[in-house]
Amino acid sequence: MRMLIAGFQKTSFVDYPGQPCAVVFTPYCNMNCVYCHNAHIIKHDAPLIPEEPVLEYLEKRAGLLSAVVISGGEPTLQQNLEAFILRVKTFGYKVKLDTNGTKPQVLLTLLGKNLLDYIAMDVKAPEEKYDVIANSSVDMDSIRRSITVIRNSGIPHEFRMTYAPQLTQEDALETARMVRGCDRFYLQQYRPRNEQDPLAHSPAEVLKTGEAIAREIGNCTVRGLGPEQ
Ligand code: SF4
Repeated sequence: MRMLIAGFQKTSFVDYPGQPCAVVFTPYCNMNCVYCHNAHIIKHDAPLIPEEPVLEYLEKRAGLLSAVVISGGEPTLQQNLEAFILRVKTFGYKVKLDTNGTKPQVLLTLLGKNLLDYIAMDVKAPEEKYDVIANSSVDMDSIRRSITVIRNSGIPHEFRMTYAPQLTQEDALETARMVRGCDRFYLQQYRPRNEQDPLAHSPAEVLKTGEAIAREIGNCTVRGLGPEQ
C-alpha cells in the first residue's frame, strides 16, 4: 500500500536543521487553520502525485541528501506513513516529521520503532483559543499528550507557533508555557494569504514577544520576519 503524496520538494536546506533534505507533503488535514498556506493540499480533492517516482528519486539522491521531511497537510492521518518511512530508512535517510499533534498514538508507535530522528509540532494557541486558530474542533487531550510524548522522546524536537494577529502577547506566552522544557521553541511571523486577511503583528512586536517567551521558558527563536509594515 502506498502513502498518499500531494507535493514533493526535491531539495531544501532549511527544513531539517543542519541537513540537506527533500520534503514530502501529504494531503489532507484535520484542522483548517486561519493562516494555512497549504489550502490546496488539505482539501479532500487535493491532486496527488505517484509515490514510486518520489522513492526512486530519494534512492538515487541518498548520500547527497541526508534527510527526508514529511510534512503536510497532517502526515499522521496517512495510513501508510510507517511503510513509507521504512522504505526511506532503507536508503539511509534521517526522517523528520511535521505534525499538528492530534495523533499522539501514531507518534508513540513511530518513536517506539525508532523511525523518527526529529519531530516538529505546531502549537497553535492557548487552550481557550485553539479552536478559533485551528478553525476546527480540537481534542486538547491529544494535543497535551503529543506534547508530553515529544518532550520525553529523547530525540531532537521543536515546537513552533505562528503569531496570528488574533493572538496577544499573553496568548503567545501561555502557549509557550504549554511546552516548557522543550528543546527549541520557534515563534513564526504570520503571513496574510490575501488582502482580506488581518495584518500581521509588526516585526518589532514579534521580536518583543519572542524575548518575553525566551525569558519565560528559557529559549525562543523568531523566524520568518519580513520588513516593518
Ligand atoms: S495544521 Fe498545518 S496543514 Fe493543517 S490546516 Fe493548520 S496550518 Fe494547514
